[in-house]
Amino acid sequence: MTSLPAPRANAYRDTWCGNLRAQDAGVEQRVAGWVHRRRDHGGLIFLDLRDRTGLLQVVIDPQEAGPEIFKAAERLRSEHVISVGGVLELRGGEHVNPNLPTGEVELRTTSLTVLAEADTPPFPVDEETPVGEEIRLRHRAVDIRREGMREALILRSKIVAAMRDHLTSQGFLEVETPTLTRSTPEGARDFLVPSRNQPGSFYALPQSPQLFKQLLMMGGLERYYQVARCFRDEDLRADRQPEFTQLDIEMSFVTEDEVIGEIETLMTKVFEAGGVKVQPAPWPRLDYDESMLKYGNDRPDLRYGLEIRDISEVIAGSEFKVFESVLAGGGVVRAINAGQREFPRKELDGLNELAQRHGGKAVAWAFVQDDGTWRSPIAKFLGEERTTAANAVLEAGPGDLLLFVGDQAKTAAPVLGALRAYLANYFELIPADEHAITWVVDFPMFEYNDDEDRWDALHHPFTAPTGDLDDPGSLRSRAYDLVLDGSEIGGGSIRIHDPAVQSKVLEILGIDAEEAQDRFGFLLEALRYGTPPHGGIAFGIDRVAAICAGKPSIRDVIAFPKTATGGDPLTGAPDAVPPRQLKELGLARPGV
Ligand code: ASP
Repeated sequence: MTSLPAPRANAYRDTWCGNLRAQDAGVEQRVAGWVHRRRDHGGLIFLDLRDRTGLLQVVIDPQEAGPEIFKAAERLRSEHVISVGGVLELRGGEHVNPNLPTGEVELRTTSLTVLAEADTPPFPVDEETPVGEEIRLRHRAVDIRREGMREALILRSKIVAAMRDHLTSQGFLEVETPTLTRSTPEGARDFLVPSRNQPGSFYALPQSPQLFKQLLMMGGLERYYQVARCFRDEDLRADRQPEFTQLDIEMSFVTEDEVIGEIETLMTKVFEAGGVKVQPAPWPRLDYDESMLKYGNDRPDLRYGLEIRDISEVIAGSEFKVFESVLAGGGVVRAINAGQREFPRKELDGLNELAQRHGGKAVAWAFVQDDGTWRSPIAKFLGEERTTAANAVLEAGPGDLLLFVGDQAKTAAPVLGALRAYLANYFELIPADEHAITWVVDFPMFEYNDDEDRWDALHHPFTAPTGDLDDPGSLRSRAYDLVLDGSEIGGGSIRIHDPAVQSKVLEILGIDAEEAQDRFGFLLEALRYGTPPHGGIAFGIDRVAAICAGKPSIRDVIAFPKTATGGDPLTGAPDAVPPRQLKELGLARPGV
């Protein structure tokens, strides 16, 4: 429960339900709120009255309140809205409710006004009983009355306030950037808004304020931030939202170290406000390559071990055809030592499916026996010399379960990353209430897209590269991601501030001069009028709030989220629009 400064006394109340304590007893108090629960007891009516600050017990005794108020109280139902006044009294002795912050007192009613009646709510507000998400979203106003949602939204607000307070104190200016704009370069599909004044033309909703914040640096504002809404029309994977909120930041005349230092101070405050204990800064910086090798992805969950090791070298040259052909094709064999575990055969076979879901083929396994040899279908093909050498790399001893994947590194990494996460969950290795934070740095600038036969930017095309521009595959980027508990909560970079480098990067991405001019001409032009070195970062506020609130889904920290299919059960959006509106926008189908 949270407390609030006293309300301004008015026709409804002069104090909050949840703020009243023993020292407030003995005087008249008036409160207003929702009937959370009503109990009738031997001629007395007891109410739990609820407002944002919590619950207060209200007693209606016909002797004190008079018959009319008592009658009105008898008609009260859950979620009726009332204003009630009376003397606050100590409950005393066995009547104290130690589970309630206001449990030492109760209000003895002498006045009661029913402000609104309520139909029976679609689900109980007074319990955290599981209620289907669709129905919760459909009746969000009722859902938000429940303690879990209310506390999550209060926490989110505190987190955002901590961001604003700190950044303002450090001279950052909050600047709003447009929502109706043109395509921005984060690599997702755009949401489009048709223009009525220019039929056939469309605005795009911003995927991020990236280009605008760079323009603000060119404009000399030095330090910018915004709590910015971003829109990305992606196929909705679990726990993504088509619109989400970023803390967007940009700074001028900085290098990576300054941005990282500034952000460590900021996020330490944010985690404090969110009640999350992370290790003291400076936080570790993990190379992208090392992260991919050891954890199988670039957002490693460091709350548990299960590191991946490469054993290609020590098992090469064996009779095991599968691994041999992978190695001959330039692939790798990597493994996880899952420790001393029981793991039924059926589950072991099931791991192949997991591998296939992530683009791989199979997972091989071995149990290390007391004498160090392996109980495994592949042991005899590898031979003892190799299995002993693999034991050494994997630091494996008797009883350990070893799991192997042989594939191209591009595939082996995500398969082992998924396997690592699966094992951590299966063996319950993720400590409750512990958090692990790390930077991931030194990303490749580009990634080759085999399907489309071209280079893609790993971050976005405005990220500054380091290295030889004529060898795109070797370029690294000056990007940094912040990863908490296996989630990328923030990412950013030092930007390109040299127009020639910017043109070259766009060219590598297959964006020719004409297209570059068309899509980003306004930025390229501004770059030419004197651009300071600059860099920044953006944080997913929804994810940060969800982690702080201990909620598995970001939908639980968003007041009005969409479902997994992008719909809004509350308003019914998205929905068809009348033909007249389509016509106005020049979008009507012929004949309509
Ligand atoms: N614009 C980037 C994003 O939205 C963040 C950044 O580079 O600052 O992911």
